[in-house]
Amino acid sequence: MSDFLLQLGQNPQARRLIKALGLPVPIPQTLRRARGPWEERPLADKVIVVGGMGAGRMAAPVAKMLAESGAEPIVIGDALDAFRAPGEAFGRPARAAQLGELPEGKFDGVVFDASELAEPAALRALYEHFHAVTPRLAAGGRAVVIGRAAATAKTPEAAATRRALEGFVRSLAKEVGKRGATAQLLIVDDGAEARGAEVLRFVLSPRAAFITGQPIHVTGEVTGKAPPTRVRALEKKVALVTGAARGIGEATAHLLSAEGAHVVCLDRPEDDALVSKVARDIGGSVLLVDITDPHAPKKIADELRAAHGGVDVVVHNAGVTRDKTIGNMTAEQWEQAVDINLGAVVRITSALLAGVLRDGGRIVCLSSVAGIAGNVGQTNYAASKSGLIGYVEKLAPALAPRGITVNAIAPGFIETRLTAAIPMMIREAGRRLSALGQGGLPQDVAEAISFLAQPASVGITGSVLRVCGGALIGA
Ligand code: NAD
Repeated sequence: MSDFLLQLGQNPQARRLIKALGLPVPIPQTLRRARGPWEERPLADKVIVVGGMGAGRMAAPVAKMLAESGAEPIVIGDALDAFRAPGEAFGRPARAAQLGELPEGKFDGVVFDASELAEPAALRALYEHFHAVTPRLAAGGRAVVIGRAAATAKTPEAAATRRALEGFVRSLAKEVGKRGATAQLLIVDDGAEARGAEVLRFVLSPRAAFITGQPIHVTGEVTGKAPPTRVRALEKKVALVTGAARGIGEATAHLLSAEGAHVVCLDRPEDDALVSKVARDIGGSVLLVDITDPHAPKKIADELRAAHGGVDVVVHNAGVTRDKTIGNMTAEQWEQAVDINLGAVVRITSALLAGVLRDGGRIVCLSSVAGIAGNVGQTNYAASKSGLIGYVEKLAPALAPRGITVNAIAPGFIETRLTAAIPMMIREAGRRLSALGQGGLPQDVAEAISFLAQPASVGITGSVLRVCGGALIGA
């Protein structure tokens, strides 16, 4: 189902007319998305204003990441030294500037390191940075604050200051969303700064176009390190994607394959034709299984072991809705949603953890914003999607010593057949009630899954990443 307002907004004359007439029509900004797999310099020529880096430990990894990604940093304050060597090595010399004398033009990104702030009055520096730079943030730009976890603060004052960053970023996301711009908070643990820079690269890139208003926790918990290259990062890896026949699963299979993985595309036997086409298009394999079949876990494990010697990436994407208010819901509707979306995921994961999922592996479960916020008529669906969050949180520490991460992704309103079937008024509300004022595409969710499948995301585990355009419901 096409988005009329988004199409209208692509016509500059229509945009001008609506503005001139002062019509109260919220025209969303067309999002800039990546095409093709990760490239060598994903931030090529992006002008990124960096501040607050003086005393913190983030300066060196951020400077290196920006230089090797092809960005053009403008450094506010006294951190220029950290940017000098990487700038020279990659031919990307950083420029120094003051907030009162910013260079001409628009900025593609604005980053502020607030990780050393320890008392409420110090938050003033955050205000000053974004007050000066945000009005110049380009359409589709990126704002990122870097902080530390409130839970590990030494004093209540420091905890308050750290937690304040979250409210700041969530509000900023709502302010800049109409420009198609996003805002995130990276909460980076002590010692995980290099991993934080890897996540920063992702959120600054066009691959995170539909992620906004997110606190993202980066830890040193999981064994392993990011590889020197992010290009074809899944070369020689085997990935299983359930529900790969269409929608988000199909988009994910394509992206994982483009990053070099051999993708095993799983769907129900009745979707043979569709899923076989996806597998053919990407040179992957087909696995026809109903995941609720009691033999499914063994069948999947046996197949992955026999044909591929194991698996590296598991994407639990297959899912269904069986919406009814609780009084009208049949036991079968309850059973189907909870078993397909949650029960089967738990059973299959257990089978794969018994010697099929290799060390350094990745597990990604498709949760939903409904699992965070709840929804009328979705007690079964929301229970299952919320259950997945509890599952990844508990599983993550147990798998960390093996270098395995396990995360959930919570999509908001994504344009697929699921959402095309929603009544028109509710569909419009789903699209518009978000910071970016539009629905996401399957590609947006697939990009997040693909990032969580790559070695560069080793710092994220036990987390829920919302891909929801800053949905006004949910946390
Ligand atoms: P979709 O209906 O387009 O695709 C789901 C796929 O899962 C289908 O190909 C289906 O055949 C497969 N599947 C269903 N039951 C199965 C079973 N028992 N065994 C094997 N395969 C089975 O859905 P989508 O919109 O692409 O959603 C993908 C995932 O993302 C789901 O888990 C969904 O709950 C979640 N999600 C989607 C949205 C959205 O807006 N589209 C929002 C939040 C969460």
